[in-house]
Amino acid sequence: MITSACHCGRVRFAVPAPPPFRNECRCTVCYKYGANWGYYQKTDVAITIDGHATPATDPAFSSTTPLPGLAYYVRDVEAEKSLPPTPGKVPRGNLAFARCVHCGCMTHWVGIMPDYAGDPRQRIGINTRLMSEVDLEGVEQKTSAGPLK
Ligand SMILES: [Zn+2]
Ligand SMILES: [Zn+2]
Repeated sequence: MITSACHCGRVRFAVPAPPPFRNECRCTVCYKYGANWGYYQKTDVAITIDGHATPATDPAFSSTTPLPGLAYYVRDVEAEKSLPPTPGKVPRGNLAFARCVHCGCMTHWVGIMPDYAGDPRQRIGINTRLMSEVDLEGVEQKTSAGPLK
């Protein structure tokens, strides 16, 4: 098991193993965050916020309202592509990028579409920069292509 935490220690993760690879995503938002993601299934991730254990499979975790202790920035795919918003429609692919409200560390992203919430098969991205380098030894580093904006 690998444990990790934000800088102040209020947001903590436990995963069963190192990720198969780390990904420095260079999409419009991740490039600016400097995050280095490890991708997991929600069923594999245990999260503790301010001492409260919250399984990543809990629908509240993928709600549009962040749990206490977290702040979300929701990537708006339609705005990113300069498309007019569709009334009543939450664009697919929208993700909530979560950070610790106390220390500001980018901790993870989670899908907040209705079909993400409560679906334990869905992926979650954990910021591997919260993990110890020792735990990540030998893990392949990838870089995904970005828009180079
Ligand atoms: Zn923190
Ligand atoms: Zn990205």
